[in-house]
Amino acid sequence: MCFGKNKVRLRFAPSPTGFLHIGNLRSALFGYLLTKSQGGKFILRIEDTDQKREVTGAVDSLMSILSWVGIEFDEGPKQGGSYAPYIQSERSKIYQKLSTQLLNAGKAYRCFCTEERLTTMRAEQEANKKAPRYDRLCRNLSLAESNRRAQTGEAFVVRQAIPFDGELVVHDELRGDIKFKLSDLDDHVLIKSNGIPTYQFANIVDDHLMKISHVTRGDEWLPSFPKNILLYQAFGWTPPKFIHLPLILNKTGGKLSKRQGDVYVEDYRTKGYLPEAIVNFCALLGWHPKSEQEFFSLKELKKDFSITGLGASPAVFDIEKLDYFNSHYLRQKTLAELSNLCQPFLIQAGYKISTQAQLEKFISLAQERMKKISDVVELTSFLFALAPYEANLLCWKTQALETAKNNLRELRDELQNISVSLWTKEYLEKNVLAWLKAGERKNGDYLWPLRVALSGLKNSPGPFEIADALGQEESLKRLEKALK
Ligand code: GLU
Repeated sequence: MCFGKNKVRLRFAPSPTGFLHIGNLRSALFGYLLTKSQGGKFILRIEDTDQKREVTGAVDSLMSILSWVGIEFDEGPKQGGSYAPYIQSERSKIYQKLSTQLLNAGKAYRCFCTEERLTTMRAEQEANKKAPRYDRLCRNLSLAESNRRAQTGEAFVVRQAIPFDGELVVHDELRGDIKFKLSDLDDHVLIKSNGIPTYQFANIVDDHLMKISHVTRGDEWLPSFPKNILLYQAFGWTPPKFIHLPLILNKTGGKLSKRQGDVYVEDYRTKGYLPEAIVNFCALLGWHPKSEQEFFSLKELKKDFSITGLGASPAVFDIEKLDYFNSHYLRQKTLAELSNLCQPFLIQAGYKISTQAQLEKFISLAQERMKKISDVVELTSFLFALAPYEANLLCWKTQALETAKNNLRELRDELQNISVSLWTKEYLEKNVLAWLKAGERKNGDYLWPLRVALSGLKNSPGPFEIADALGQEESLKRLEKALK
């Protein structure tokens, strides 16, 4: 079991290089749930060392998404905490000091090689079908020589001095021991020539200084794992426990891709997915509950989530499953709640909402069929405005158009006699059906033309529900239109 007696401190450490990816949200969620199930502290740290790739607005956007889904932090840029600052660009002095410490201990070295030399080296390696790797030329410089050259202002990067050979065994909580050949590892860069640390350096330094006990991150970080552990060893620090979460693949077994538009959480929010559905869906991307239960609220997850349910085999991102969860949570909403959620989509579509009561009636006709909130636009458009339709659509089976119209005329005469205060689905249904029966009229001959006259559609909810939602005045108008 990877949770001992010591306090669990787990962090989510996104880089603001783009919008929050589903995979990142899953890492954040699993980290949060593991922390909360252990009564630990969850920490947000912004890893903004790659300033070239930084995207403006990304930090705000990721914070807003995390709070939208209900993930809360105990420490972070906004919350503060004993290990502040929680933004790496504000921690440069710390990295400077610690990289000097590594240089002095001979665990890292300055590399003065020019960009040209490195480019030529890489091209040669490529031509010889060798893995691109720094040839360690500068590792031979004495510390005195290295210090002297640095003092003259010569540009350099700091590289980690990886042991030349041997084997390193690292431990992942889901995969067990993993062996790496040290000769396969590159003396990678820890501090760039502008003095800014790489992810590989700052991440380890901060995890140590912030007393992080556990790391949950995507398994795309497995190749860095041995280098991370070697860095802990170089400093003489104990590493946290690592949980590399399984890859998320699409249904055809490929990687999730930005081009297919399925990666950003923000896009799902815009399309009208509910945070409850996203949380439930993400929780099952690699976590297997003990029972058959499939619907989990965040509160339940905080209680039930456990590392024993995690596996290392890839999870499948199935959008139909997300739609299924979303439909479920949309159906749980009261009409008032759902109307509030739908309103912005309807307004954006240019629909005019007359009263809250009418809006709720419209929404009630769409609720069962909505997969996402944006579907409301299409599902209710016939209620907001009647689109032109083919006259023959009014005919039930082989019915002649004249017959359909005559039947509609009879219906209109009946319906206009109903007092507006009695105009409800139940009343209409009861009375119209009774009237059909009394006159030995066939339901289909009357109700099909009625439904089409009210909706203009081949498929729609039933005529009484539509008539109720539209109200008497609009329903009669639509009947008149059909008669013309
Ligand atoms: N900044 C890294 C990222 O955005 C963090 C990876 C980690 O959790 O160690 O993926």
